[in-house]
Amino acid sequence: MADFLPYGRQSVSDEDIAAVTEVLRGDWLTTGPAVTRFESDLAEHTGGTPAVAVTSGTAALHVAYAAAGIGPDDEVVTSPMTFVATAATAALLGGNVVFADVEADTGNLDPAAAAAAVTSRTKVVAAVDYAGHPAELDELGRIAHDNGALLLEDAAHSVGGSWQGRPVGSLADLTTFSFFPTKNLTTAEGGAVVAGSDELLARARGFRNHGLVRDKAAQRYPDEGAWHQEVHEFGLNYRLPDVLCALGSSQLRRLAEFKKRRAEIHARYTAALSSLDGVLTPAVREGADPVWHLYPLRVLEGRRRALFDHLRAKGIGVQVNYIPAYWHPVFEDLGYRRGMCPNAELYYGQELSLPLFPALTDADVDRVIDEVHGFFG
Ligand SMILES: *Cc1c(COP(=O)(O)O)cnc(C)c1O
Repeated sequence: MADFLPYGRQSVSDEDIAAVTEVLRGDWLTTGPAVTRFESDLAEHTGGTPAVAVTSGTAALHVAYAAAGIGPDDEVVTSPMTFVATAATAALLGGNVVFADVEADTGNLDPAAAAAAVTSRTKVVAAVDYAGHPAELDELGRIAHDNGALLLEDAAHSVGGSWQGRPVGSLADLTTFSFFPTKNLTTAEGGAVVAGSDELLARARGFRNHGLVRDKAAQRYPDEGAWHQEVHEFGLNYRLPDVLCALGSSQLRRLAEFKKRRAEIHARYTAALSSLDGVLTPAVREGADPVWHLYPLRVLEGRRRALFDHLRAKGIGVQVNYIPAYWHPVFEDLGYRRGMCPNAELYYGQELSLPLFPALTDADVDRVIDEVHGFFG
């Protein structure tokens, strides 16, 4: 049988390995010069918006909501068509997560649904750039700001993309990235929070590092001694180590090449599958410049599960992204009910992510295409 094709995987080059071993031989393993370098390298891809490196995309969301001041009684309006962390991190801070439905074509948060869901208690509207296609960020930003809320963009899928000519990272008050191996670039585990506001950045940096205050001018007890650091607000240790930041800087140099290859594979799938009865290929909106993290094929007539099982049996590692977040029992137990967001539920019922990562060859892609065609006969 042919090799198993995963749905996603990292691409690590000799240069990436050399960048990591150089740090391993140096003086710093954790917080050293590679962190600051990675943060400034990342800012070159966000239109100059500063970045705070953290240990995962989940940590980035937790830090971003903490920076936004989410606490009990605050509402976060978000999309259910996402990995559970987008909602879970807000809930962990005591926030009340309000799911608003997605648009039928892109699976991204529907501005009309978000507008209907915001109240005077809404502190954050959190959009997700599903599959790497930016959400309707201008409209969502207006809706958030008109209600005194912040716009958060979960850009775990879309680092390197842009919307209406402006790069992801420059479009929302807070943007979060994930550098998990299947994402568009990797640091093994890792993530970042990007923000234009000095206050949000300071709060994000504080939460990343236990809330420790080192600046004497800001301390309550500055005369305690030269060693003294003090905590004013609780935080966690979400520091991304130097070793992994070095990998991140090296991977960023390859991001344009990754994006190009992902786009080629995406186009090859669409060209071969768009005329096939029984499936829908992904939509692209005017003004969107996606970085395709996923290829979300939609399988009609209730045949998604059968096609999933067929492809898996052929050694093709398809995936489903995502079960609507409120279907997770943890949300069900809080009283969230099925039926709340019909577009998201329909999208989930049809969605099948085909293998998509830079090292896929055209022959690999054609093998997937042939098996899909074979299934529909
Ligand atoms: C991957 C992902 C996350 C979480 O990132 P981790 O680095 O795995 O913690 C959050 N949101 C979305 C949309 C993701 O795809």
